[in-house]
Amino acid sequence: MKKYLLPEKGNFYKANLHLHTNLSDGELSPEEIKKLYMEHGYSIVAYTDHEVIIPHNDLSDENFLAITSYELAVNESREVPWPKIKTTHLNFYAKDKNNIVPPCFTESKIWDRISGVKSYVTDEMRANKYDFRYSAECINDVVAKANAAGFLVSYNHPVWSLQSREDYIDYKGLWGVEIYNNECYKMGYLDTSAPVDDLLREGEHIRILATDDSHSAASSCGGFVMVKADKLEYNTVMTALENGDFYASTGTFINELTFDEGILHIECSDAKSIIVNTDKRIAKRKMAFDGESINRCDFDMRDWLVDSAKLEGKLRDDSYFRVTVISHDGKKAWTNAYFYDDIVK
Ligand SMILES: [Zn+2]
Ligand SMILES: [Zn+2]
Repeated sequence: MKKYLLPEKGNFYKANLHLHTNLSDGELSPEEIKKLYMEHGYSIVAYTDHEVIIPHNDLSDENFLAITSYELAVNESREVPWPKIKTTHLNFYAKDKNNIVPPCFTESKIWDRISGVKSYVTDEMRANKYDFRYSAECINDVVAKANAAGFLVSYNHPVWSLQSREDYIDYKGLWGVEIYNNECYKMGYLDTSAPVDDLLREGEHIRILATDDSHSAASSCGGFVMVKADKLEYNTVMTALENGDFYASTGTFINELTFDEGILHIECSDAKSIIVNTDKRIAKRKMAFDGESINRCDFDMRDWLVDSAKLEGKLRDDSYFRVTVISHDGKKAWTNAYFYDDIVK
């Protein structure tokens, strides 16, 4: 039976899930950001200023949705000099737009550079005082508390953060990982897919994100997700995000993605090549002939299905595939990972 990996019905909404306003260390005001992004075809922006949730529900209207969110940084010991310090940055997205209390909080994290957020600290936030440590144990505790409090948690720019496999491989309960962060990409951090596949191969059902992390207009409108949902309404969009009804992109588009009897079908805007990567030593690639484009194609995934079935129960529950579309000008679109268990059962 044909399975729609991206929902058959609904509308695509363009979303930037990571940015900073002039309330923390960004340059643009929340209103200027709304204007800029709407001019570039966006319908959704998550305002992820540092350390404190600053809600912007007043900016939401029938054509624009502001997501209640923030970014947390957990740094290694201060004895490590800044250029070498490892850090874990997480974004928290509230499933309820009025949920503005971070589950783990400390005012000591509001350093001079972002002291502007101080006026948004409430006694309710202070009550959730937390002693952050740079360890997987601490991160997992924070993520578990956040999930219980109704937040989706993303893991941001691991490569810029100087994190290697040993730092993140034990992270559990994350909703998403950035495969692309526009601010970091512009600095020169281009190869960022390894942490995504490492965590997927560990059996973590993480979503794949492209974001801006913009601090100014210069790093805006580069990485986004296309969310497919019935309507532009907070709970509907958050449910679509949680369910993985989206793909990530830097400027090329996927129209349809289905799986039927082992055949993966994709329809997309003009592509130079399309790649399927999996948990296994199985990868597939189609290239357009010179001067031509691929707009639709099928991949025979029956070998992956057979191998996944053979390994079922013998290894971790980590059989997945994911698709990357590359346009003639080097723009990419990344689908989420689709797991054997979800597809077959
Ligand atoms: Zn960050
Ligand atoms: Zn950021």
